[in-house]
Amino acid sequence: MSANSDVVSRVIERRKSDPTQLLQMLREIQEELDWIAPETARELAAGLGVPITRIQSVVQFHSFLYDKPRGRYRVLFSDNITDRMLGNAALVDHMLKRLKLRRGQVSADGAVSVDLTSCTGMCDQGPAMLVNNFAITRLTLRRIDEICDLTRIGAPLREWPAEFFRVEDQIRRRETLLTSLEPGVALDAAIARGRQGMMDEMKRSHLRGRGGAGFPTGTKFEGARNAPGAQRYIVCNADEGEPGTFKDRVLLNSFSTRVLEGMTIASYVVGATKGFIYLRGEYRHLHEQLQRDIDVMRASGRLGTSIRGASGFDFDIEIHMGAGGYICGEGTAMIESLEGKPGRPRVRPPSMVEVGYLGKPTVVDNVETLAHCTEIAIEGGASFAKRGTKTSTGTKLISISGDCERPGVYEYQFGVTIGRILEDCGARATTAVQIGGASGVLVTPDEFSRRIAFEDIPTAGAFMIFGPDQDLFDAARNFAHFFAHESCGFCTPCRVGTAIQRNIMDKIAEGRGSRYEVNDLMRLADFMKKNSHCGLGETAGNAVRDTLNKFRPAFERRLHARDFVPAIDLETALEPARRITGRDDADAHLVTEA
Ligand code: SF4
Repeated sequence: MSANSDVVSRVIERRKSDPTQLLQMLREIQEELDWIAPETARELAAGLGVPITRIQSVVQFHSFLYDKPRGRYRVLFSDNITDRMLGNAALVDHMLKRLKLRRGQVSADGAVSVDLTSCTGMCDQGPAMLVNNFAITRLTLRRIDEICDLTRIGAPLREWPAEFFRVEDQIRRRETLLTSLEPGVALDAAIARGRQGMMDEMKRSHLRGRGGAGFPTGTKFEGARNAPGAQRYIVCNADEGEPGTFKDRVLLNSFSTRVLEGMTIASYVVGATKGFIYLRGEYRHLHEQLQRDIDVMRASGRLGTSIRGASGFDFDIEIHMGAGGYICGEGTAMIESLEGKPGRPRVRPPSMVEVGYLGKPTVVDNVETLAHCTEIAIEGGASFAKRGTKTSTGTKLISISGDCERPGVYEYQFGVTIGRILEDCGARATTAVQIGGASGVLVTPDEFSRRIAFEDIPTAGAFMIFGPDQDLFDAARNFAHFFAHESCGFCTPCRVGTAIQRNIMDKIAEGRGSRYEVNDLMRLADFMKKNSHCGLGETAGNAVRDTLNKFRPAFERRLHARDFVPAIDLETALEPARRITGRDDADAHLVTEA
């Protein structure tokens, strides 16, 4: 048996030959072998008794899995617009020059490969990179030099300076959620209320999903509880991939008691016995610590059977790590990924609360939403609902980055104005704020009195600030690239639309665009919104459209020609088609006589 075969066998055994664990197996194999070679994929397929195409499709779907050789040190620079604003382009160039590499190339000795990736959730302490999925923050030219030296001598990652991997919470403002919770208190409070009593409190709280869509959580819980079948699941969506969002990172790092007990309370209400935390691959650094927290919970009777002594209250949690795929944050795509398939959104209906993980009723909720369940268990729904506004109750975590003095995580009651947030974080002469990430909205100073609330500006929490020196065209172009990269390719309007949008933005950036193409961008945004299968495609044109509406001169000054100038004479080129079809009417000509 080869060394590679040995790794594959061990991983299959550890994961109990369960094909739903395919993504976890691939991740673990790659951590040892650096990439998924064809023979490795074949051995895995044979060991699991699944077609090789299933292995290949999952590998090709995830940007952190490789079916071609990569370096033993796989360097991925975070390339969100906030990393750009902090100068990541110069750092990438510097590293490539030092290592004599091109982007995506593997060094001759097989040691290093360097490439870009989407936002890594470190916007408050960038520029950032991932090395074998572990985040390194606050990059400087000096730190890049040190990293190059470490890769040259082949130092294992565990021997690199701990300082490199320091990820700080940067909590700047707290209300009720970002406070410590004594283990077991929220669970006891929920048990004391009883399953129906806790459900009633959830509905009384008017808690709405913090992922951005704002679906009433109590209604979701009730739907799953009432769906037919004995087995139910809770999925904690910790795949916060929206560019500019990093507040779940803080909850998972420092308030895991709230998150894990929140999941357990959800299971109590819904009647679920199994839960998953779908942790984004970029948060690899949190994996071991979260696993330890789960183990401690189990050992102290807060997970497992008869939780806190309550007969029939059985629940356990498993961590499922993602491997680079923004679309896996979409609920049904996440379920597909949990089942060991490529994370492509499902057709709805049926809803996940009826037919979710393995066809069973499933609640998928955001980290922050589930953490709020601990507050509701302790203080009751009516008390919770006193915070915020009538239709947006409770508090909201905001991830602030970009041009301000104090980036980080801020907790506010819903209804806070944008102006107040800008003041608190030390933003000066702000020209625009991108709220809700790449798929969100761009607001300008005349809108700074607007409020963060589902009834005004809903957001999952990203708040990227642009000062007077920023060119908003660059931000829109960065987002256009993001969507083209992250489209899962399932439906044509999004797959082709995001690619065209990216290409037009590049053409304009290169000074080859015309006003015709600028107008095309607006049509494209509208088309993708109306015809895409899921939220990614529906919102993929938002940033470009908003920027065009509010910062049109940023596009206009780059234009090569005001009007579309075709490279060929289209009217003449259509002549053979007119002859063949026997048409010569006005509609068969591009130009009609005045
Ligand atoms: Fe995939 Fe985009 Fe279609 Fe969503 S809209 S299913 S991401 S191609």
